[in-house]
Amino acid sequence: MDNAANTSTAGSSGQIVVAGAGYAGLHVVLRLTAKLRNHPSVKLTLVDQHDYHQVITELPRVAGGTRAADAVRIPLQDMLAGRVRFVQTEISGFDLADRRLLTGAGPIDWGRLVLALGSRPNDFAIPGLAQRTLSLYSASDAERVWAAVRKTLTAAAAATDPERQRCLATVVVGGGGATGVELAGELAEMLPEVASGHGLAPDRPAVVLVEAGPTILAGSSSQLIGKATGVLADLGIQVRTNAMIAAATEEGFRLKDGQLVEGGVFVWAGGVKAPELVADSALPTGHNGRVKVDQYLRVLDHPEVYVAGDLASVTDPRTGHVLPPLAQVALEEGETVARNLDAELRGRPLEAFTFHDKGFVVSVGTRRGVADIAGITSGGHVAHLLKDAIEWEYRQSVKHLRGWDPVPG
Ligand SMILES: Cc1cc2nc3c(=O)[nH]c(=O)nc-3n(C[C@H](O)[C@H](O)[C@H](O)COP(=O)(O)OP(=O)(O)OC[C@H]3O[C@@H](n4cnc5c(N)ncnc54)[C@H](O)[C@@H]3O)c2cc1C
Repeated sequence: MDNAANTSTAGSSGQIVVAGAGYAGLHVVLRLTAKLRNHPSVKLTLVDQHDYHQVITELPRVAGGTRAADAVRIPLQDMLAGRVRFVQTEISGFDLADRRLLTGAGPIDWGRLVLALGSRPNDFAIPGLAQRTLSLYSASDAERVWAAVRKTLTAAAAATDPERQRCLATVVVGGGGATGVELAGELAEMLPEVASGHGLAPDRPAVVLVEAGPTILAGSSSQLIGKATGVLADLGIQVRTNAMIAAATEEGFRLKDGQLVEGGVFVWAGGVKAPELVADSALPTGHNGRVKVDQYLRVLDHPEVYVAGDLASVTDPRTGHVLPPLAQVALEEGETVARNLDAELRGRPLEAFTFHDKGFVVSVGTRRGVADIAGITSGGHVAHLLKDAIEWEYRQSVKHLRGWDPVPG
């Protein structure tokens, strides 16, 4: 271990600014609030474009019409302690030399900065994809997907040509990772009911899941993939693997082999990348524009800047792979960043980040799911309940941390 890097570089960080109130950033702030009770002079500022935190893991339910968008937007004022200054503004850049965050509300000075700006859909430069598909990365995105689904079913009901009707009543999801699988499952269960409401035969709507690789849920165990494939088949979802999208056109997804996948609504859930403003900065970036950090989650060559969540490119020393963009990773990184900021204030050694994998759970439809936990694969209703329990526990933990407010506002 490098002693110089491991030791606190500043006893007084003065102003700590956290950019982003998502899973990682909010966790840093909630954890730090409790830890800062012995440091009343340290100022803690949270900056986000929204005045709410979004429970992104629940978006497929909003997109499938089973949950209201407002139910996944938690007002930040309900969670932040009085000593946290919240600034609602869009961040436009970073002035690393002068230690200023550039925002629509003017520059914000920092002694220590935490970057937790999440990620954006990655269109992998596939022609037409950004223009012709909906994405699913915010509550508003999810509302748009649900609105588009209802609109296309209305149009399908009005169509007289059966082929045209079939095409309009088809929702195509690009990307067979967890997001694509969860979305396809939700939609497949909800569409028959919505179709009936529009006077369409319940079996008229269809969901197609298009994946470039040889399997859905790539990287998961073969048992989990098998169980998920079975549930998707039960739900009538057409899964097309080895189907690389070459272009999104007005007619639909044109695959690399020339085939056309037609539909009324196209959603892209095929991957994420870092926000543009990071790509345009002087921060060192790696795969998909994520920011390279040391073992303490500080930006390489910028020890005064921490990164957590999807934005951080963190290699798991046990596997040699960069950790995936997941909420559970973001929360654990947020925990380490909060501890390290506290350690800096106390003049104590920093803690290296270690990821403790709690397992992988994907809901497939409104009642079933698949899970890989501690080497055991399960599927069906229990896995779905597990996903519900994880989301419930997350909401409870956020409330609990708020209860730690050392200086009530
Ligand atoms: C549909 C979907 C389902 C998912 N399901 C799961 C799941 O079941 N389990 C799991 O572990 N992971 C899941 N994930 C991944 C998980 O949501 C992300 O890994 C997690 O949100 C990352 O947290 P974060 O704090 O890095 O970013 P985010 O939670 O995205 O937060 C980033 C914050 O930064 C703010 N921000 C960004 N740019 C700016 C700017 N320029 N100015 C001001 N504010 C800005 C945003 O408003 C946001 O509040 C899912 C992702 C998606 C899209």
